[in-house]
Amino acid sequence: MAVLSINQTVADVFAQKINNDRLGHAYLFIAPKGAGKIDTALAIARAINCLANKGHACGQCASCLKVEHGNHPDVTVIDSNSEAIKIDQIRGLLNKAQYRAYEARCKVFIIADCELMTIEAANAFLKTLEEPAKDTLIILTTSAPYDVLDTIKSRCQWIHFAASSRANVAAHLIESGADSITADYLANYANGWAPLAQRLWRDGFYARKNELVDALIKGFSDDDIKMWADEKPQALEALDIFMSLVRDAFVYQATQNDVLLINRDNAGKVKILAQKSPQELEAVGRLLKQIKHQINENLNPKMAFGILKESLWNPSSR
Ligand SMILES: [Zn+2]
Repeated sequence: MAVLSINQTVADVFAQKINNDRLGHAYLFIAPKGAGKIDTALAIARAINCLANKGHACGQCASCLKVEHGNHPDVTVIDSNSEAIKIDQIRGLLNKAQYRAYEARCKVFIIADCELMTIEAANAFLKTLEEPAKDTLIILTTSAPYDVLDTIKSRCQWIHFAASSRANVAAHLIESGADSITADYLANYANGWAPLAQRLWRDGFYARKNELVDALIKGFSDDDIKMWADEKPQALEALDIFMSLVRDAFVYQATQNDVLLINRDNAGKVKILAQKSPQELEAVGRLLKQIKHQINENLNPKMAFGILKESLWNPSSR
């Protein structure tokens, strides 16, 4: 079975490039969050430097294991976890880039969310990106290609990831032990992005989601707010789930068709929601977007969910 955390199609394209000695020096991986961009880049770093094979990582040699454990001296990852990527981080990378590899055939530098580089950091990086030392591979990733500076974009070959078919993703999840209802929901919710679906399956998202759907339909209590808005990532996840329900309610109003719902496992609840007027649903959708934006801008999630609670299903308060 293919490894779900990576994009196998992209990994296969690179295996061919490696085998044919046609690897470029800089690539920009473009795909939404959860598409497995970093894991795929790391799989490529293993494949290039594997001591046993060419093009495909054996997963067992010293080089493969070091990359996997994050301690290969010639494979560097900058992942700023959604914070700005500062010039100091780039200087550290440039410093490594100018020397020969310690032990690898090819040094690999991976920068996640490269749109977050400050202008200063990006400018410092340009020359290396254009003319890296020999035997160097640079992989940048982004889920927001329009925010990547043109000077960076123009110096890379672009690789657009494609999602898998939902049926395929669901089949893989079932092989990993998910029941068919959970697998079907996760494949749909993740839009066919297998790595995201796999991560959600592993971290118990499905049960969490069901509790949240109940809370949303009933209306939020203060306990719900404590539970769902304690931390920012959790609050953002909850808002995405709400948005999928509101989206489904619109779809149901327009089509009366369960099959088109993301939440078809909860079709009964979607239908309750679909009894609201389109204007009311529209207002809730807008509110959810606005609150998501505010939490991203660092509004306290509990406060944001307080606003949501006051406004939810209560049009007069908006
Ligand atoms: Zn190996």
